[in-house]
Amino acid sequence: MEYIEFLGTGGTRTPTQGTTCLRVSDHCVIDAGNLINTFGDDVFTIEHIFLTHSHLDHIIDIPFLADLFVTQKSISLKIYGLKATLDDLRQFIFNHRVWPNFEEIALIGHTNKTIELIELDLEKPYAVDGITLTPFKTDHTEGSCGYMIEKNNSAILFTADTYKCSRIWELIDEHPRIHTLIIEVSFPSGFAQLAFDSKHLTPALLKEELAQSKRSDFTISAMHLKALFKETIVDELNTLHLLRNGGKILSDGDRTNYTQP
Ligand SMILES: [Zn+2]
Ligand SMILES: [Zn+2]
Repeated sequence: MEYIEFLGTGGTRTPTQGTTCLRVSDHCVIDAGNLINTFGDDVFTIEHIFLTHSHLDHIIDIPFLADLFVTQKSISLKIYGLKATLDDLRQFIFNHRVWPNFEEIALIGHTNKTIELIELDLEKPYAVDGITLTPFKTDHTEGSCGYMIEKNNSAILFTADTYKCSRIWELIDEHPRIHTLIIEVSFPSGFAQLAFDSKHLTPALLKEELAQSKRSDFTISAMHLKALFKETIVDELNTLHLLRNGGKILSDGDRTNYTQP
């Protein structure tokens, strides 16, 4: 694939919008907020899921995927994340209480387990399925990270959920090949305290953050808007001219090319 497809872009689930889910190559996705409804019968082609953190809107389809895969696949579904994120999956989801422990349950007729949890190291590049993913620490949960997503010497920076985070702007300045920033903006600027408490960004916080970058040549697109406040957030982003260089509010089904035209 020569593009990233945004399968889920919402900050919450609505009847018409899924939550965070990016298809970054034929067999690899980042987060699992909207796989079942978008992949259809192709869902069995998914081999790798890189997680940004363990919040429900980012992992919600993983249990259902494991349930489908156990009788149909011969190789384990590989799920990658920082240690705290994988610990959460083991403790709170695949614990034989909320859901069967598919990390121990073998694929029917095979010795491979249904899922395999693989711990990531921060700032280390992982080459998978023709792309490279490099996790960087964000300020959201203990195990939260964003990813630099690279193909053919072009890079896109995806923050997923985060509060203010200097590493975003350092990476953009360090790597001129980053041509697009996909950042979250969850609440209107008037909800600064809620944004701090829940570790999310507002348009006003994004404007403050942007002052840290020396570059102004990259595209900025936004996602993870809380549906109830979408109109206000869009107005504020436009008034503050934050969707730079052709950026937009991402909707489910949008695509971004790895190589900028
Ligand atoms: Zn979150
Ligand atoms: Zn989220």
